[in-house]
Amino acid sequence: MDIIFKCPNCEQELSVAESGAGTEIECPTCNQNIVIPFANVRDGVPRPMAAAVTNAARLEEKHFVVPQHQKAADDLISKPLRPLDVAAKDGLQIHLKTIRHSECVEVGKDHFDEMVTRFLNKIGQANLVSINPISYAHQDLGSREWVNDYGVMIVYKTDGPT
Ligand SMILES: [Zn+2]
Repeated sequence: MDIIFKCPNCEQELSVAESGAGTEIECPTCNQNIVIPFANVRDGVPRPMAAAVTNAARLEEKHFVVPQHQKAADDLISKPLRPLDVAAKDGLQIHLKTIRHSECVEVGKDHFDEMVTRFLNKIGQANLVSINPISYAHQDLGSREWVNDYGVMIVYKTDGPT
């Protein structure tokens, strides 16, 4: 594309290759040294790459558009789920394990602590919801007497059906 401009001295219309913009030439008509203007000079104010800048700004606007998550908004508006619903949704299941002290005693040996410890390690600390002491009465097989005993009730969770 050529730059068409008028010589400031003799008003001769000149046509020069765009690559020559900004260089000094000798006017073929009046033999004066003149500078070839940039094609996009308007009213003496250079506006280089005005269109390119605008396009870049548009691209940037698009690039930084915040993604719309309509689903997240819906979740915020909707009523909070009950804990069991949440657990079911995540594939989590809540379980209850009761360990009675009397069940852990055999031949005079007390395995209660050992069994509770083993169970807790089996489910893992991350899956332990709560552990609560319980007391109960049971009938001793030998003496037929009712005795008070203790145990623990362990609430824990798992990732799926067990
Ligand atoms: Zn001239």
